[in-house]
Amino acid sequence: MTNKTYVIANWKMNPQNEQDVSDLLENISKAIDDGYREKVEIIILPPYVLIQAVANFLKKYSLSFQLGTQNIFWQNSGAFTGEISPNMVKEIGCKYALIGHSERKLYLGETINMIEKKIKIAIEEQLIPILCLNPRKDSMEKLSEELTIYLENIPNEHRQKIVFVYEPIEAISTQGGKIPSSEELVEMKKNIKKMTWPDAKIIYGGSVNSSNIKQFVQEFGFDGVLIGAKSLDPKEFSSIINQIIKL
Ligand code: PEP
Repeated sequence: MTNKTYVIANWKMNPQNEQDVSDLLENISKAIDDGYREKVEIIILPPYVLIQAVANFLKKYSLSFQLGTQNIFWQNSGAFTGEISPNMVKEIGCKYALIGHSERKLYLGETINMIEKKIKIAIEEQLIPILCLNPRKDSMEKLSEELTIYLENIPNEHRQKIVFVYEPIEAISTQGGKIPSSEELVEMKKNIKKMTWPDAKIIYGGSVNSSNIKQFVQEFGFDGVLIGAKSLDPKEFSSIINQIIKL
């Protein structure tokens, strides 16, 4: 558990090859201030096949970014065609695992039951779960039930490791980019804390950019942000980090 501000780059199905990874990371690393090392937990979530390339780059240039995966399977071995185990991603340097992103629910039919199993194995394998929640403001009861399912079998001392992402689906840039009102953001953060624990790490996701970053971190007090589109834009991404360093 860190007290730094989380800046999590969800690269989704990008970039296309190792050269593009190298160009992207080079441009980001040249543009960010060194103060990130003390103040910002930068976590890169590349597609599986490019995790190693990112790990190599980070090592070569002594960057203290963390690595994570965009997904894991809920078992470590077996006949599961196309899946990647928690152990495999850990072996190549992942510390974090994004779990339950709305695009996986929408396009791949990921269910609450699958997500629960993924959280459980992530904890068992000492990967830190970054757990996506997409609550609607009129369905707090549903959110509370969902959280109960996710957390009830996780021992107390391990639960605290989970990083919760409040990510309203309609706020995601490819889903309309409609960011909730200030009141709703504050209310939702409060509700998630009530349903979890007072010092739960709660970050915000959905259309974060260099013009609105301060609002989420400073004004609304989120512990960080999950960034999709703008994590692939070195100018935007580095500006977001540099602004957090100065807060
Ligand atoms: C996301 O899909 O997790 C996300 C945060 O995307 P964007 O920043 O592009 O809205």
